[in-house]
Amino acid sequence: FTSDKSAKVFVAGHRGLVGSAIVRKLKNLGFTNLVLKTHSDLDLTRQSDVESFFALEKPKYVILSAAKVGGIHANNTYPADFITINLQIQTNVIDASYKNGVKKILFLGSSCIYPKFAPQPITEDALLTGPLEPTNEWYAIAKIAGIKMCQAFRLQYNWDAISGMPTNLFGPNDNFHPENSHVLPALMRRFHEAKVLGKKEVVVWGTGSPLREFLHVDDLADAVVFLMDKYSGLSHVNVGSGKEVTIKQLAELVKKVVGFEGELVWDTSKPDGTPRKLMDSSKLAELGWVPKVSLEEGLVDTYKWGSLQCLSLSS
Ligand code: GDP
Repeated sequence: FTSDKSAKVFVAGHRGLVGSAIVRKLKNLGFTNLVLKTHSDLDLTRQSDVESFFALEKPKYVILSAAKVGGIHANNTYPADFITINLQIQTNVIDASYKNGVKKILFLGSSCIYPKFAPQPITEDALLTGPLEPTNEWYAIAKIAGIKMCQAFRLQYNWDAISGMPTNLFGPNDNFHPENSHVLPALMRRFHEAKVLGKKEVVVWGTGSPLREFLHVDDLADAVVFLMDKYSGLSHVNVGSGKEVTIKQLAELVKKVVGFEGELVWDTSKPDGTPRKLMDSSKLAELGWVPKVSLEEGLVDTYKWGSLQCLSLSS
């Protein structure tokens, strides 16, 4: 893949947290022929539009980072959107990629595909061994279908479709929506607003005891390129940092990075979600990839971006 820098690469979802990091990475590596379409140029949920786009552009490689994503509240509130939009996007893109001669495709999922009580750290083979976490099962079912589609196309057509399952991601271009975002940008925004408005308290959801693993999106982009180069197997591959923190520890870290000096108040009427989801990323480590960005460095970098771009309450 990286020996073919003039090849046409379609990065689906290039404006999102993940897609934008992949585009930055590919540009840094010297890729010259990226195909990027905004949502208004190409609606990936519309099969005929996706088919026309592929027939016209004929990309050689596809990285499927377009998805309907959100935090625990969004997943709970819009289950129909999460299952339908994700199934549509991935089915259209994977099928059209195959039919139009794409050489290799990488599909991105999430650690929430695994059973709620999977043994920790979670290995790839824990998939479909138990019930899912109810707060995000709609999204998870769609992502599991995407993995299975890649496997089915590999088995039936010997087509080079692979899947990467990242842990909780963060970084520039994240969604900082107050309710619908993931915990890290949500807290960054709330602490920032509290600091600017001189508030004494910040509300954090749940009990603070759940454990989560975080990976900076630049590390994910690096792993995506690595997998495109080095991996062509049937199984999906976990992409994690191997480091976990409690939500309470995360909240304290974000508080420090933002520079908020008040108190945390826990709203236990909000769901905790799954108690722990640490992935076992040893398969990727054995292939030769390791993450580079620490949580603390990543938080500083993300706050620098977020405070300039969209935490604009202060301005
Ligand atoms: P999850 O990893 O799929 O559960 O998704 P989230 O990133 O949305 O939530 C992770 C954990 O952070 C859960 O235990 C939430 O209860 C907790 N949390 C604490 N405060 C917030 C917040 O303001 N927003 C979100 N999304 N989660 C929060």
